[in-house]
Amino acid sequence: MAANANSQLRQWIEEVDELALGDINGDARNEELEAAVRRILELIGEDPSRQGLVRTPLRVARALETLTSGYSMSVEKIVNNAIFDEDYNEIVSVKNIHFFSLCEHHMLPFFGIANVGYIPNGKVIGLSKIPRIVDMFARRLQLQERLTTQVAECLNEILQPRGVAVVMEAYHLCMMMRGVEKQDCLTVTSCMLGDFKTNMQTRNEFLELCGRHSLKTR
Ligand SMILES: [Zn+2]
Repeated sequence: MAANANSQLRQWIEEVDELALGDINGDARNEELEAAVRRILELIGEDPSRQGLVRTPLRVARALETLTSGYSMSVEKIVNNAIFDEDYNEIVSVKNIHFFSLCEHHMLPFFGIANVGYIPNGKVIGLSKIPRIVDMFARRLQLQERLTTQVAECLNEILQPRGVAVVMEAYHLCMMMRGVEKQDCLTVTSCMLGDFKTNMQTRNEFLELCGRHSLKTR
């Protein structure tokens, strides 16, 4: 795996760990989650009372809260009126958006990059909003296919553009660590709407741009 993705993953684990060690706000849901994690530890043959594991249920509960925080986010809050009238008719693209998600079949991480493009139809969105929309859908239990479609359809709905294109490449830990144990398998998904679907030249222009921002070339 590329060193870049590795360091991203490490940074992410550190961030999650830090959050996990923050203040306990002790709500009932987290306590139940902690009890469930403690039970999992017992069932895999561990001793939840040994020193290194005492705070693990708390950390896992807080980590899960962060990793599934997308359920409590809304497009309206993220976009927050950052949509502007603009006569720009070429492809707007935000490339190389790193994302982390959990597969809904194994609750193991899958992570990679998203390349997003759209062709405005009188309206543009604040560019920083696009990675946040990706995050909102990624921080849920997901399938890469659905994640890709949701990001594309979300932009399509809020901007009513001439077209939207989303290409995602990801490594799935459920494939790498278990099952087929194929470390090099990169899963690529795409969703093309509007002009990107109907106009081959437009689609190729975007795909060429994605090729230059692919995990394969790192
Ligand atoms: Zn899986």
